[in-house]
Amino acid sequence: MTEDIKILKPACPKCGVFKAISIPASVFTQKSFGLIKIQVPQGAVCEDHQFIVIADTEARIIGYEAIDVSVSKEEEELPEIESEIKFPLKYLINKIGFNSVAGLIHAKLFKYDSFIIRSDESDMNLEDLNEYFDFMIPEPYKNSVKIDTISYDDEIFPNPGYFYSLVTNQKTKAFLFNPRKHIVQIPWRTNLYYETHIINYALERTDPKEQTKIISDSIKRFINDSEYAKTILDGVKKISEKDLMKTLDEKLAMTTINKYRMALIKEFLRRRVSVDLIKKIKK
Ligand SMILES: [Zn+2]
Repeated sequence: MTEDIKILKPACPKCGVFKAISIPASVFTQKSFGLIKIQVPQGAVCEDHQFIVIADTEARIIGYEAIDVSVSKEEEELPEIESEIKFPLKYLINKIGFNSVAGLIHAKLFKYDSFIIRSDESDMNLEDLNEYFDFMIPEPYKNSVKIDTISYDDEIFPNPGYFYSLVTNQKTKAFLFNPRKHIVQIPWRTNLYYETHIINYALERTDPKEQTKIISDSIKRFINDSEYAKTILDGVKKISEKDLMKTLDEKLAMTTINKYRMALIKEFLRRRVSVDLIKKIKK
């Protein structure tokens, strides 16, 4: 007889790569309540990192803990920075996880509500967090949505997995994450390749100012592309997606318009401009 297995799909808190892994079901039934920690060795999910997945007894992921072989001071603590930009990217990734950082860029850019589900006043200041992400978004799109808090009382809800399912039923259109580096809900369908790419590109620099400049320059270019797509759509009654992509690709010298980029542009126009505009695009 084969042993029952549960499939978990953890995402590396350091680099965002995710992969399905099989865990014997007995791991989850050894306890009747509480949380289970599973160590994920380097190579099992991503090439470079090992980490711990925290799950509940129903095999729902609750969060992650990074295992640092050598934790440098610089990564653990927020250095004093004489700059309007408070967070180095690495610090932020260590605090809330790679994919939550990518998700917050997406939420701010495409105007989705976002909430951090947390049980205590952690040292992460929401105002600073909002300021950090809004800084990357150009006018008139910045400051249009705020990252907010949902408080989680672990005495009333000893099982966070259960509480998360209540919240996702209520806030169906919001991006939800927790301080344990876990994304509780993603309300959009496009994946985070774009955000992942710009974060990794920005991580090649260490100066927080340069990092945010790289990200905001890329976002500016994306918005220019989207606004150009809007002017094309404003001037036509109907257009096929193929023709729209071809026109954009010819006119926008800096960008390659592939299916994914087109999906992002459509999402931007739908969320930021008008749903009717999108209806002009024929498959
Ligand atoms: Zn990784």
